[in-house]
Amino acid sequence: MKEIYLDHAATTRLDERVLQKMLPYFTETYGNANSQHAFGRAAQKAVDEARDKIATLIGAKPNEVYFTSGGTESDNWALRGTCNSLKNKGRHVIMTKIEHAAMLSTAKELEKDGFEFTFVGVDKEGFVDLEELEKAIRKDTILICCMYANNEIGTIEPIEEVVKIAKDHGVLCFTDAVQAMGAIDIDVKKLNVDMMSFSAHKFNGPKGVGALYIKTGVPVARLISGGHQERTRRGGTTNVPGVVGFAEALKLTKETLGKDVEYVRSLRDRFIQRVTAEIPFARLNGPKDGNKRLPNNADFSFEYIEGESILFSLDLAGIAVSSGSACSSGSLEPSHVLLAIGVPEETAHGSIRFTFGKENTVEEVDYTVEKLKETVQRLRSMSPLYEGKE
Ligand SMILES: *Cc1c(COP(=O)(O)O)cnc(C)c1O
Repeated sequence: MKEIYLDHAATTRLDERVLQKMLPYFTETYGNANSQHAFGRAAQKAVDEARDKIATLIGAKPNEVYFTSGGTESDNWALRGTCNSLKNKGRHVIMTKIEHAAMLSTAKELEKDGFEFTFVGVDKEGFVDLEELEKAIRKDTILICCMYANNEIGTIEPIEEVVKIAKDHGVLCFTDAVQAMGAIDIDVKKLNVDMMSFSAHKFNGPKGVGALYIKTGVPVARLISGGHQERTRRGGTTNVPGVVGFAEALKLTKETLGKDVEYVRSLRDRFIQRVTAEIPFARLNGPKDGNKRLPNNADFSFEYIEGESILFSLDLAGIAVSSGSACSSGSLEPSHVLLAIGVPEETAHGSIRFTFGKENTVEEVDYTVEKLKETVQRLRSMSPLYEGKE
């Protein structure tokens, strides 16, 4: 039985070298980083080193890096924390229609608390409409949120321009860089963004740990109250093995970024090229220009059939993919991202996301294309919608 993992946007395998770095912090250096004895100091030293390393790698100052439990918490914190701290200044927030559920569902809750949101549209390839975004800015706008790169269709947003628009109007700007981190060499200072979220498990680090970058002076109320951890801005005992693993994973990712990206992109391009040529009525969602989409991402809609059926058939063949986003699968709602780029609802239901990783091989890509061809053919032969189309 083959095991082919093509769901790297959902999570990645922990790098063995990262695991080795983490292990001593479970059983040997297990102190609480806040304790005032040798055990605590040893843990604190590891946390400080991890923070320094991460800060250097993203162009931040160490005290601008706040550890969290991952991307979802960082997104929640940036949004809720800014709303809470600036509610007397204004209660209007702008975000794109294709943000991650961590943003959109937090926005829904904040709407009930009296905050107002403008959801800015995107074009057919998922790029944010910059004109619409600028026009949406009001006197009471306190925050603009635009993800760095989309987790479903891979669109890399024109984030420099979004930041510039926000700065021109004196509005804070947040970006969810969870997907971008393993694919793009990010420098927060150059970008001049106010807040950015990261998650270690998306680039071969451990699950349950991430960070929110908060530029010095940006007022963000804390989300999690408790002790004095993270310079009193985020309570809770620090996940020492987690942050050590996070720093090591980021270091390793950055060391071979260029080479890995090139390799993963070549697998992805081969896949897109073959699927487009060999499977009729397959529509690529997201940017056609491979340099403007995440190098690991290929998202297709297969007309006249259900994405879930494709997913289950591929799963039986040992191939792991995702229908829409892992977060919305389970619900039968079509993906909000596909609807935002204008994919008709029936077509959106027939969509599958393939996300490649550096562990994948050309043979796996070719095997997947063959299985996919068989599956699509078989499902269509049973589909009344497909009759007469071939
Ligand atoms: C995975 C993901 C998240 C959530 O991160 P977790 O660490 O899994 O909570 C947020 N935003 C984007 C774009 C993601 O891909």
